[in-house]
Amino acid sequence: MARVLVLGLAVLDHRFWVDAWPPTGRMPARAYAEELGGQGAVAAAAVARLGGAAIFAGSLGGDPAGTRVAAFLKSYGVDLRHTQVFPGGRTPVSSIAIVPGGERFITAYPGEGLPDEPYLAPIDALDRTQAVLVDSRLPRAGAVLAAAARARGLPVVVDFDLDSPAVWALVRTATHIIADEDVAARRGGAPALLESLRADGLWGAVTLGADGVLHADGRLPAFEVTARDTTGAGDVFHGAFALALAEGRGPEACLRFGAAAAALRCESGSVPDRRAVDRLLSSR
Ligand code: ADP
Repeated sequence: MARVLVLGLAVLDHRFWVDAWPPTGRMPARAYAEELGGQGAVAAAAVARLGGAAIFAGSLGGDPAGTRVAAFLKSYGVDLRHTQVFPGGRTPVSSIAIVPGGERFITAYPGEGLPDEPYLAPIDALDRTQAVLVDSRLPRAGAVLAAAARARGLPVVVDFDLDSPAVWALVRTATHIIADEDVAARRGGAPALLESLRADGLWGAVTLGADGVLHADGRLPAFEVTARDTTGAGDVFHGAFALALAEGRGPEACLRFGAAAAALRCESGSVPDRRAVDRLLSSR
């Protein structure tokens, strides 16, 4: 079974389905769910749900939210041996308003007392790993892990959704960079970002929501679905992409696998399993 080591952010999400946004005063919610959030954590859950082995390395606070996040990760089958709990720390929490059509509006509390230090990088775990995925929230630990992975010849995927010097340093140690539209816009647009990555010898892609993905070798449209909740579409996309890479597939096949998994996430709001993704892939 292919194994992916994920280093990144874990969040406790509170999702509220509302009729409109922004609210005027008090607003009733039609539905509510507590779920796993955070780029790295949701990607790790996707790897496990899609039939891979997932190790999640990251940090949690020693608080009730941290306990809930750990329980969610375990329920998905994610290996938490390298997840560190900081007793005095506070786990990130988000409030997410989702409107009809699936668009979401996020209020994110980033947590407190959770470090981004090289010792968070579980170098030993690389011995049992076929691919590494690092998100932009732990760039210092991520760069250390990425460099060690590259030294072993492993592919390293970066979820590039925060533009800072530390994240750029991480990007330069990776093999596959998948950016979001906002980061691309700050870098002159998706084609300009892809061109500058190419000039540095890096393979890149930019996810464009329902407009699909622009990548180093072309464009891939999104799978058409009725979106109910687009929260975490990118996170599922990255996890699925990294798993396909760990299984030895080429970048375009990995993108298609990621896009199918992400579309199902948008349709159902939950992390899809392998059968559902394979079914969608063979139907289109
Ligand atoms: P993020 O969640 O990081 O902002 P995007 O919104 O760009 O990421 O979505 C990532 C990928 O998920 C897209 O490239 C696309 O393949 C898929 N996706 C996102 N929204 C939809 C949608 N409404 N319908 C189908 N696929 C979608």
